Amino acid sequence: MLLNQHPLNDIELCAQEVKECIVDVEDFPIPGVTFKDLGPLWANSNLSKRAIDAMVQMVENDQGVPECVVGIESRGFIFGLAMAQHWQVPFVPFRKPGKLPGELKRVAYQLEYGTAELECQVNAIKPGMRVLIHDDVFATGGTARAAIQLADACGAEIMGCAFILSLDGLNGQEHWPIPVVEKSCLSLVHFI
Ligand code: AMP
Repeated sequence: MLLNQHPLNDIELCAQEVKECIVDVEDFPIPGVTFKDLGPLWANSNLSKRAIDAMVQMVENDQGVPECVVGIESRGFIFGLAMAQHWQVPFVPFRKPGKLPGELKRVAYQLEYGTAELECQVNAIKPGMRVLIHDDVFATGGTARAAIQLADACGAEIMGCAFILSLDGLNGQEHWPIPVVEKSCLSLVHFI
C-alpha cells in the first residue's frame, strides 16, 4: 500500500458498491438522456439497507439529526421513509398535483420542457422544524430547488438535502437559491 492511500471507510465502501450496481440506460425517457436505473439497488435488500445506513450516517456527520424528512415523489419516498423511521421523525411526501387531499401548499417550477408542480398538506411541516429533503437523483437541481421553496413556504428550517446520487456534470448546485443549502447538499454517489 502506498503511503498516501488509506482504507475506505464503511460509507465509502457502500458508495462504491452502490455506484457499481447502478445501470445506465441510454436515451430514456427521451433521446439524449442517460437514465440512472436504481432498480438493482432496490432489488438488493442487503445493499439498500446498508445504503440507507450510510446516508443516515452521512447526514448525521454533516448536519445532525433532522426533525422531519421530506421525500420527493416518487423515488424519494423509498429511502426517505426509511431514514425517517430510523430517526423516528415524521416523513412528509411532496407530491405531484392531484394526489393529496385537504388544504395544500403548491410550488410550480420549470422543467427542461414545460413546467411541473409539487404539493404538500399545509400542516404536515410545523414552522421551525429542521427538515431534510431527500430524492433519489440530483440532476439539474430544479426539483430539489422547488422542494426547498415549498418547505420554506411551510416555515421549515431547511437543514439540507441528501440524494443517493448526483450528476455533478450538470452543475445543478450552481443555481441554488438558498446559500446555506449549497453547503449541505449531500450525495452518497457522484457521477461526472
Ligand atoms: P432534476 O430536477 O433535473 O434535478 O431532476 C431530478 C428528478 O428527475 C429526480 O426526481 C430524479 O428521479 C429524476 N431524474 C433526473 N435525471 C435523471 C437521470 N439521469 N436518471 C434517473 N433519474 C433522473
